[in-house]
Amino acid sequence: MILLEKIWENLQEKGTAVAYSCETRQISYQELGKWSGRLCAYLKRQFTQGEPVLIYGHKQPVMAAAFLACAFGGFPYIPVDSSTPKERVQAILHSARPQVLLAAEPVQADEISIIDRKTLEQICEEGGEMPLPYPARKPDEIFYIIYTSGSTGVPKGVMVTCENLDSFTSWMMKLFPKAPSVIVNQASFSFDLSVADFWPALAWGAQEYTLCRQVQKDYPALFSRLEKSGAKMMVLTPSFASLLLADQSFCAKRFPGLDVLFFCGETLLPKTARALLDRFPGLRIINAYGPTECTVAVTAAEIGEKEASQSILPVGIANPGVEVYIENGGKLAKEGEEGEIILCGDSVAAGYIGQKSHASPFGIKNGKRYYRTGDLGWIQNGVLYCKGRLDSQVKLRGYRVELQDVEQNLSALPGVEEAVVVSCENREGQTTRLVAFVQLYEGAKPTKQQLQALLAQRLPVYMCPIIRLVKAFPLNENGKCDRKRLKEAANGRGDFEADPRDWE
Ligand code: AMP
Repeated sequence: MILLEKIWENLQEKGTAVAYSCETRQISYQELGKWSGRLCAYLKRQFTQGEPVLIYGHKQPVMAAAFLACAFGGFPYIPVDSSTPKERVQAILHSARPQVLLAAEPVQADEISIIDRKTLEQICEEGGEMPLPYPARKPDEIFYIIYTSGSTGVPKGVMVTCENLDSFTSWMMKLFPKAPSVIVNQASFSFDLSVADFWPALAWGAQEYTLCRQVQKDYPALFSRLEKSGAKMMVLTPSFASLLLADQSFCAKRFPGLDVLFFCGETLLPKTARALLDRFPGLRIINAYGPTECTVAVTAAEIGEKEASQSILPVGIANPGVEVYIENGGKLAKEGEEGEIILCGDSVAAGYIGQKSHASPFGIKNGKRYYRTGDLGWIQNGVLYCKGRLDSQVKLRGYRVELQDVEQNLSALPGVEEAVVVSCENREGQTTRLVAFVQLYEGAKPTKQQLQALLAQRLPVYMCPIIRLVKAFPLNENGKCDRKRLKEAANGRGDFEADPRDWE
């Protein structure tokens, strides 16, 4: 695997250069090599290669060592951020059935053997020299499994192969022939946006500089950490960039070394790109597009002054290993015609773990895997544009949420008869919040606050909506729940029949 070969060389050659940096400490390439070598040897002694391992925590250096240990040892890893509620962790365990859970933080999980942080650190730091083996992974082996929101109320585990990741990282190396020395990570390891910084950083022999969630909520701490980082490149969501831009000091004067912003995961608005170009003259802005199911990103566009003056930004040109089609009414769309974006080729993942449904968006055509994205787009002069979704998936501050996932989890709460979740958008069409309309059973007692608390035990905070209790759902002409009216009500442009308990 090209990626691991590059990293293996860097671990031998980069010595005391910093490989990974988090709030509490920095570790060098030498240390990372030692840690992951010992952990890899331990895993190989105790567990079965090819069987998944869950890695839980929040950006601790031991997580980085665990990723490398799994990658070199031949264990598909499942990264789970510690902000994930217990029931969601349990759903992931149930779906992927990992053989062990490596916990960089205390975790509540049933029916799984757990190796806690202290033990992990002991394995990493003590014991003799156990160098990482030279990588010998096969292209179709599973490299990682990342869970995303699923429309059935249960998260879906996307199985990304060694070939998939090699395709993505080789393309990244070509996009940035001059390796940046410090790459700032925003996303948690639960999201595949983090794959766009973690693996390329180590392949470049650069420093992966992580921002933990507490720092991201605290402007002075965030800006001072960013300043200290000497960041050359940041991998981030447009929502995070808007947050940074809200502070006038996010500019070239304070961050003179910042050369590249690599965006992915949601729509980048022209006004955001323009503001960034104003604040950072000469900045390279990359608008990359792709779903987790196709390994982080498959297309990318450079956004300069010319592009930023358009009403919608391009998402660009595909990784050479991937073909992009637009399909409309079962036929290939013509140049400029809108339709569903279909992706085909090396980056398309091996499917969802444990799912072989006929309705799968994955398929095989002419011996190549393809994936129906559910995104609406078009191609003009070879450049892809993405306009939005064809289904009820939304992006909220960069997080992917299936509205049905929230509905299913709300409907499973005691006292809830039915739940309908709608999204509220701003003028630019960005989702700003989720509102759930909930109908309780006659005589049911839960208050909105109790429902909120119960839901937070099942879903990550970013998926939890504002709750309104309804007496009855409005119906449309077909006698179905009128989601349009509820959406208008949620946006303050209409009313709904509130349950008197809504005011309690
Ligand atoms: P995720 O699997 O969380 O990365 O979400 C993938 C989805 O995010 C895609 O299917 C798109 O709907 C959306 N998305 C990703 N990148 C972009 C982009 N650059 N512009 C618009 N939408 C995007």
